[in-house]
Amino acid sequence: MAGRFEGNHPSGSGSGGGPPTVWVTSQQAHVAFFVRSHSRPRSSVTSNVMGMTTSASVPAGPEGAIVGTVTDRLVDANEQYAAAFTDPGMDARPVLRVAVVACMDARLDLHAALGLELGDCHTIRNAGGVVTDDVIRSLTISQRALGTRSVVLIHHTGCGLESLTEEFRHDLEMEVGQRPAWAVEAFRDVDQDVRQSMQRVRTSPFLLHTDDVRGFVFDVKTGLLREIDPA
Ligand SMILES: [Zn+2]
Repeated sequence: MAGRFEGNHPSGSGSGGGPPTVWVTSQQAHVAFFVRSHSRPRSSVTSNVMGMTTSASVPAGPEGAIVGTVTDRLVDANEQYAAAFTDPGMDARPVLRVAVVACMDARLDLHAALGLELGDCHTIRNAGGVVTDDVIRSLTISQRALGTRSVVLIHHTGCGLESLTEEFRHDLEMEVGQRPAWAVEAFRDVDQDVRQSMQRVRTSPFLLHTDDVRGFVFDVKTGLLREIDPA
């Protein structure tokens, strides 16, 4: 039932140059405005807000223009996506036989940065791009059930994990009364953390292919990858 009113909808993904984009959806007779937070400039958004949704609201911008649920916006976008979608008839096995393990950082567009197309690779992401047991689980399935052979690890500059310590766990325990089973995997030296990640992949007994494992640091300012020597 989402009614759409789009002032200046960009044809592609959000780019910086154009005027602010406003999404409007109707939800239970309320109207909510979504202001693309990535769009710049963020000024001169005029809105006519009649009501607000109550959960998972996008924070109001400096303009005071409001908000709705971000999930509504995603669902709305999906309707457009599906309307133009045709089944590409792909196999689940990645075309390039590669699995990419990367940080979840919002500034890292893996497909664009690596020239990847839909169907080319597995992408496994978490906070830090850390090779945890669960990443090994995914890599094992990727290799043994879905035919990948190469592993690419990508950390990046300015990672949030550089500003955390294992004290994070302690503080959590103090707050909620339960110590998390997982490590924070905070780090100070991103190069060293990439090396450790490569080592964890190479020494995993579960993986079939550990000869082509390479690690990189993505520079969020330049978009360039810098390869890390495993030694
Ligand atoms: Zn990160």
